[in-house]
Amino acid sequence: MLETFTYINADFPWFFATFSFIFGAITGSFLNVCIYRIPAERSVVFPGSTCACGKAIAWYNNIPILTWLFLRGRASCCGERFSVRYPAIESLTGVLFYASWVMHPPVVAIIGFLFIAFLICSTFIDLDHMIIPDRFSIGGMVIGVLLSILFPSLQGVEGSLIIANIESGVHSIIGALIGAGLVYWIAVLGEIVFRKPAMGEGDVKFVGFIGAFCGWQGAVFAMFGGAFIGTLILLPVLLLGRIFGWKQRGGSSDSDEPVAFGSQVPFGPMLAVGGLVYFLGFDRYVDAYFADFVLSFFGQ
Ligand SMILES: [Zn+2]
Repeated sequence: MLETFTYINADFPWFFATFSFIFGAITGSFLNVCIYRIPAERSVVFPGSTCACGKAIAWYNNIPILTWLFLRGRASCCGERFSVRYPAIESLTGVLFYASWVMHPPVVAIIGFLFIAFLICSTFIDLDHMIIPDRFSIGGMVIGVLLSILFPSLQGVEGSLIIANIESGVHSIIGALIGAGLVYWIAVLGEIVFRKPAMGEGDVKFVGFIGAFCGWQGAVFAMFGGAFIGTLILLPVLLLGRIFGWKQRGGSSDSDEPVAFGSQVPFGPMLAVGGLVYFLGFDRYVDAYFADFVLSFFGQ
């Protein structure tokens, strides 16, 4: 079994890479359900997908990405429009799973699928509702620590059995603590300086989750790199959304306040982008930077 896998992976590298994309698109389809139902406290399993008109959606009309393209974004039963966000999330998940597979050895890549799925769910729930459910942040933190203990390669730890497992677990716990602690203190200072809460408790737990999977370097990068990348990418989008009157979050369309971080722009998506950039290849540069930094700080 494992031999077959190794053989296919070595001789046909595109096979599992393509499979990762397809698996990602299918997972993305499920994530769409999670993003919609979890904040509403509804089961993600029952009932199956239904159209806005109440009719059940047949499996052949529920194929990730393709259905939306074939039906040109309309339901086959009643012609109701489906948001372009559904195929977008399916494609995004597919691309990110593909990237995880290409960037990492198989075990880390597969753990990465879970990490990416949690990040995507948290991001879009945060965009919709300005909350990150605890099951993703705290739940993800616990899962990250457990997976680090079981699979030390996740934290880049090699060596003899038990010692590597413990070392990797410690890496993960330190990552969670430094990540959560950093954001906690930024939130406290931010509140003193700007006199209103910017980052919330949800962001603190969320970076803890990123740290549990990526270590402290990943958590620190998620915070600062994410804020930087997020400002470059998300701010123009949100500003345009305001100008063209796209759907307002939380139904408070009466506010005349300028777009502000924390109150109208959720931090979660930026932190998630930072975590993703780190996990999908930027880790080597960030780790090298921190290693240099620590060395120059403490001398030799
Ligand atoms: Zn319908």
